[in-house]
Amino acid sequence: QRAIKSICCIGGGYVGGPSGAVIANRAPSTKVTVVDVNSDRIDAWNSTKLPVYEPYLYDLVAIARDGIPGQREPNLFFSTQVDEAIREADLIFVGVNTPTKTSGLGAGKASDLGWLEMATRRIARCADHDTIVIEKSTVPCGTAQDMQEILKANAKPGVQFEVLSNPEFLAEGTAISNLLCPDRVLIGCFETESGRTAANRLADVYANWVPKDRIITMNIWSAELSKLASNALLAQRISSINALSSICEATGANIEEVSYACGLDTRIGPKMLSASVGFGGSCFKKDIMNLTHISESLNLPEVAAYWKSVVEVNEYQKNRFTQQIVDTMHSTLSRKKIAVLGFAYKKNTGDTRESAAISVVRSLLDENAIVAIYDPKVRRNQIFDDLKLSTDDQRIQVCSDPYDACEDAHAVVILTEWDMFSNQEKRTTPARLGKKPDFEAALRASLSDTMRGKDPISDGLDSGYDSGHSYSPGASSPDLGSAHVRPSTPDFVVQ
Ligand code: NAD
Repeated sequence: QRAIKSICCIGGGYVGGPSGAVIANRAPSTKVTVVDVNSDRIDAWNSTKLPVYEPYLYDLVAIARDGIPGQREPNLFFSTQVDEAIREADLIFVGVNTPTKTSGLGAGKASDLGWLEMATRRIARCADHDTIVIEKSTVPCGTAQDMQEILKANAKPGVQFEVLSNPEFLAEGTAISNLLCPDRVLIGCFETESGRTAANRLADVYANWVPKDRIITMNIWSAELSKLASNALLAQRISSINALSSICEATGANIEEVSYACGLDTRIGPKMLSASVGFGGSCFKKDIMNLTHISESLNLPEVAAYWKSVVEVNEYQKNRFTQQIVDTMHSTLSRKKIAVLGFAYKKNTGDTRESAAISVVRSLLDENAIVAIYDPKVRRNQIFDDLKLSTDDQRIQVCSDPYDACEDAHAVVILTEWDMFSNQEKRTTPARLGKKPDFEAALRASLSDTMRGKDPISDGLDSGYDSGHSYSPGASSPDLGSAHVRPSTPDFVVQ
């Protein structure tokens, strides 16, 4: 058996890039190559302006990609040479996009596995020695079996493949913390001797930095379903608290107090219990619709309806939010300027996929409002793309400063919970329910080589992402409590 010397990550997106950076960082004797068919993305990964914003990501990429003279050779590479990287790899992570199908059978629900199949066929075509292929993308149950069959049918003579499922649980905005200190690493394998051997070899890679008791092996279908189930449960909590928020608003109860009280119950816990305008991101809706589709395919209509209702409540929450803005502003937004603070689907990311901001801003435009948008990490063109508008549309102003967005606004709408938009102390949770203690130590250990005495956490190293403008949140963040809005306006601030 070849030792694992070379790892390839197919797909240099929000999962592939950060995962590759962390593996390369924590396993310095392994060569890690992240490949993508999108050459713009690869060029960005090779520059100082990474295509993905995540706190601390740039620092980890720079150490492994550029090396440290006299101390550390580069072991992280970004490339469009997919075939070459496949040939060289002992272990291949497939982390390509698996969006919801937009046409054909299962449109609007089933996952489009076209990219995954293309990557799998390419591996079969190029690999010239035994290779472990890891399904990192989120997929429906049974996909690993399909991958195994495709690989077997198309393998070069004498080449064996073993497919594992290793779903990714990182959350955008905290990806580095999640990857360095995961709650668990899940490895699903076929229940054969070769399957278990492959799982152990992957576990050895993670054991470079993850405690062994957090690396869990199980059957491959359980691993695939666990990822969909986790996202469904997380989204279900958000829809539950959002549904409760509408009862609060109708009764005079305060959702923050209700959420705090519920979260103190150790069986419930405090996380993912903040009411909001609704969940966004590329995963929650997609994965729940996938689960709905699986349930329908298995002839379990009641189960399908249950999960679908989580998405329906989310849509209801977004519509309710816009309705509330219109109601509060005397039933008309015509020619009123609305400042929108935050466009990403959550804080600490530049990702706007399925962001609630998109549908809220579209509804504001339908009401003939003028919308001024500020987000510290979302590029201007991205905002126009998401809204399906040309960049010269006069109804939208994209501002590089939150004060400009709020100037003369009739209302300020806070759609992303960036820290810079808040000057309120959050209610603290008792320490016994607090965050895991070891992330900062792990990050310091990862970065200490290059920090030359600086503290990576308090120095807030955060660079390396091209947001299209230079403002970045941090010590100099403006306090929006003193925003220069007209004294009689905004009519209200919603959050
Ligand atoms: P992404 O769209 O950001 O990145 C996917 C990349 O794969 C793209 O850059 C695309 O060009 C590339 N690609 C597609 N087909 C390819 C091929 N044949 N060869 C080489 N490159 C190819 O997607 P993402 O957000 O990184 O998500 C990837 C997968 O991980 C999805 O299945 C998603 O559900 C899952 N996931 C995402 C997150 C998240 O927070 N984004 C978290 C956990 C799991």
